[in-house]
This record gives sequence, structure tokens and C-alpha cells, in this order.
Amino acid sequence: RFISLEGGEGVGKSTQAAMLADALRGRGLGVLQTREPGGTPGAEAIRALLLDKQYDWDASAEALLFAAARSDHVVHAIRPALERGDWVVCDRFVDSSRAYQAGGDDLSDDAILSLHTIGSYALMPDVTFLLQADGAAVAERLAARDSDGADRIGARSAAYHARVAQRFRDLAAMDPERFVLVDASGSPHDVHLRIMRAMAPLLGE
Ligand code: C5P
Repeated sequence: RFISLEGGEGVGKSTQAAMLADALRGRGLGVLQTREPGGTPGAEAIRALLLDKQYDWDASAEALLFAAARSDHVVHAIRPALERGDWVVCDRFVDSSRAYQAGGDDLSDDAILSLHTIGSYALMPDVTFLLQADGAAVAERLAARDSDGADRIGARSAAYHARVAQRFRDLAAMDPERFVLVDASGSPHDVHLRIMRAMAPLLGE
């Protein structure tokens, strides 16, 4: 099974990915916990290029780099894990490209999906948790991060992030079978319990 966690910066995706992976491991399941962009040495190298302030990638170059990183990640980590029968818990996947590079920037959703077909077998998660938190809580978490704003991509406008959030909501509305909306307010444990409630049918619980 392939599970992705999506949402804007600072909603707690990484924490929830780790908690979900631990919960699955605690049930004796094999788990690959991973993230995008990244997850393999090649994709982490592309991530560093994307975040490096010395480069001025335009939106299409960014989309290609994200797609290349995803391709390496799918080919060398995610597909092999799924073929072994492991569960995959991924912090961001193609929906992030659809929300950021198509929703935030102005590329077409079809273009993003074509790149996904070329690079990554059009692989889709079985379940996607979309974490949603109110702006104030997110601003607080982002302010607490040392490195925030230090990378190239961290410098985007509030309007950009609003378009991203709207596109995530649109994607979820278009695919209600795959998406689970998660209220990301409260403690990490609260949010984890919400996710585990939604996981119960998948786990046969
Ligand atoms: O989720 P994480 O903070 O690791 O993502 C790194 C940066 O890359 C974030 O600023 C995120 O907004 C950005 N990103 C993006 N497009 C994607 C995935 C991530 O702009 N498809």
C-alpha cells in the first residue's frame, strides 16, 4: 500500500509521516518512510539544487526537476518497496507538483501529469492524507524552524501559498476516493489519532 501526506508548509506532515510509519511498523508491517523531493541519493541531490539560492529556476525548470527527482525516487525506492510488499509512507508526492507547480505557478495540470507518466509510471498513492491547518498555527510552526526562509523556495508570496492551498482542496474534491481531509489542529498525537481512524479499514481493524 502506498500512502502520501500532503499539505502546505508547516502543517506537520513530516511528524505525521513518522508517527504513521511507526504505527505500521508496530503492527509488524514492513514500511518505507520517505519524502519528496528526495528519498534517494539522486533525488536528494536534485532537492539541494531546487533549494539552492544561487540558481534562478523558472517554473518549468522547477517542474522538470521535481519530476526528475520523483522519477528517481519511484524507480529506486518506492516501486521496489511496493514490489516487496512493504507499505510506503511518503511525505509529499505528485499532488504537491499539481498544487505548487500547477496551482501556485501556472503550469497545466495535464503537463504535470504527463511528466508523471514519462518519469514515474503515473504511479498514484492508494490513500492521500491532506493535512489542513489554520494560517496562524502554521505561521507559528514556520517561525520556529531555524532554516525557514533561508532556501530559495521558502521566499514565495502569501498569494502563492493561497493558490497552492486552494488547488490541494480542488484535487481532494475531484478524487474523494483517494483523499482523506485531516484537521491538522491540536497536538501531534491528536492528528495521529485522526489519521489512524481513517487507516482502520485499510488495516482491517
Ligand atoms: O515539504 P518540504 O518542506 O520538504 O518541501 C521543500 C520545499 O519544496 C517546500 O518549500 C515546498 O513548498 C517545496 N515544494 C514545491 N513543489 C513540490 C514539492 C515541494 O515547491 N512539488
